[in-house]
Amino acid sequence: MKTVKDYIRTIVDFPHEGIMFRDVTTLFADPRGFRMCIDQMLHPYAGTRIDKVAGLEARGFIIGGAIAHQLSVGFIPIRKKGKLPGATVSEAYQLEYGEAVMEVHDDAIQPGEKVLLVDDLLATGGTAAAGIKLIERLGGEVVGCAFIIDLPEIGGHAKLEKMGMDVHALCA
Ligand code: 5GP
Repeated sequence: MKTVKDYIRTIVDFPHEGIMFRDVTTLFADPRGFRMCIDQMLHPYAGTRIDKVAGLEARGFIIGGAIAHQLSVGFIPIRKKGKLPGATVSEAYQLEYGEAVMEVHDDAIQPGEKVLLVDDLLATGGTAAAGIKLIERLGGEVVGCAFIIDLPEIGGHAKLEKMGMDVHALCA
């Protein structure tokens, strides 16, 4: 039987030479693969209270929307700077060259709400760490960070665990 990893393809030299890009569009495009992915991402959280699902732009929206629908809870987009129309809180983080900023609407999460954070891939952990900080600044509690792919050798997994996070991924 095919696993989630079997549906993911690697594109060489995208977006730059030397980068092996993990392309999950082939996973999302397959009805069995996509369902397996969503079901397996949720599996560790059976019995855990989740009030909201937050997804990181952009592929985290696809996963997060499906997971939120499955749980019958709301979905919160965490977006790159300047994309959200209402009042936001922002969090800057370091990239290899320069800086990026993620934002969330300041009324998206109520104090005490339990939030599951999702994205497709964990590399340095910079994007996810910014998302965690935003959720916590609004008073939410991150009950888990779920990814399809974890590249632990790049350090993100350890970084999120150091922040006290429960981290799950389906493949490396
Ligand atoms: P990090 O902040 O952990 O270094 O990078 C993770 C972010 O970059 C995620 O939002 C993820 O979507 C994106 N990303 C980085 N490399 C890849 C890749 O090879 N494939 C995919 N699908 N996303 C990537």
